[in-house]
Amino acid sequence: MLSTTREAAPKIRGGTAMPIENCQWMVTLNGRKGDVPPLDQAGFTAYAKSLPATAVYDRLNRSKLVGRLKRFIIAQSYWRHYEQMATFPSNIIPIGDAVAGFNPVFGQGMSAAAVDAHELKKCLHQRATSSDNLAGLHHDYFNAIQDTVSAAWNGTAIYDMMYDSTQGTRPDDFPQRKAAFLAMQELADADPAIRLKRLLIGNMLEPGSSLYTEEVLEQLQTKMASMAG
Ligand SMILES: Cc1cc2nc3c(=O)[nH]c(=O)nc-3n(C[C@H](O)[C@H](O)[C@H](O)COP(=O)(O)OP(=O)(O)OC[C@H]3O[C@@H](n4cnc5c(N)ncnc54)[C@H](O)[C@@H]3O)c2cc1C
Repeated sequence: MLSTTREAAPKIRGGTAMPIENCQWMVTLNGRKGDVPPLDQAGFTAYAKSLPATAVYDRLNRSKLVGRLKRFIIAQSYWRHYEQMATFPSNIIPIGDAVAGFNPVFGQGMSAAAVDAHELKKCLHQRATSSDNLAGLHHDYFNAIQDTVSAAWNGTAIYDMMYDSTQGTRPDDFPQRKAAFLAMQELADADPAIRLKRLLIGNMLEPGSSLYTEEVLEQLQTKMASMAG
């Protein structure tokens, strides 16, 4: 489990504007470590203006507020390792947020829940076409969702762990992961193809391994070396 507290850390703000029904847009702004978007319209718009890109601010400027601004404070990410339990109750299958809750800034929760459901369907189908009953189904299911949960966790919680005040167990190779993450971020900033690939991976439309071609790995190593020096 991770939990975050307020600290004087780099302020990382972000935002999205997403078209929804009835020609309306859902605008989300996010901050960290106590740097939260205000709930009054003027403050909210000013926060959007402070983002490095202008798309969300431009959208707000062309729109009329139709609802009430709402705030969600999510103080922790968690990954419940049911697969490590010596015994597990029969006839229960945890899905989505019941397995792992990710920082919503990264938009992984619904995708992970959908993949969990898809994997469960495959496990059930496999049982339906064999002579097995449902006994031990949870073992198959927990195995099947490991890669997805792990990919979502490694892409989100690792980022949050870069804040010293974030509590939680960091993997032994955290310094290397952090260096690789920061180097990849720089590569993505400079290369739209890498940016697109990360977006597809982030939305679970492609496996994480699809990014690491020989060429990208070479670029990554060069970038990491130059950042370290
Ligand atoms: C502000 C915010 C923004 C987010 N943005 C994104 C995003 O852009 N992309 C993304 O992929 N994910 C996003 N997420 C995460 C995403 O919403 C969740 O990961 C996802 O909804 C989890 O689905 P779920 O079915 O596991 O749980 P939920 O969607 O929480 O569904 C659980 C349901 O169970 C019901 N329930 C609870 N207790 C009981 C009970 N005792 N009896 C009966 N019913 C009960 C609840 O009312 C609820 O309807 C965001 C989350 C937040 C808070």
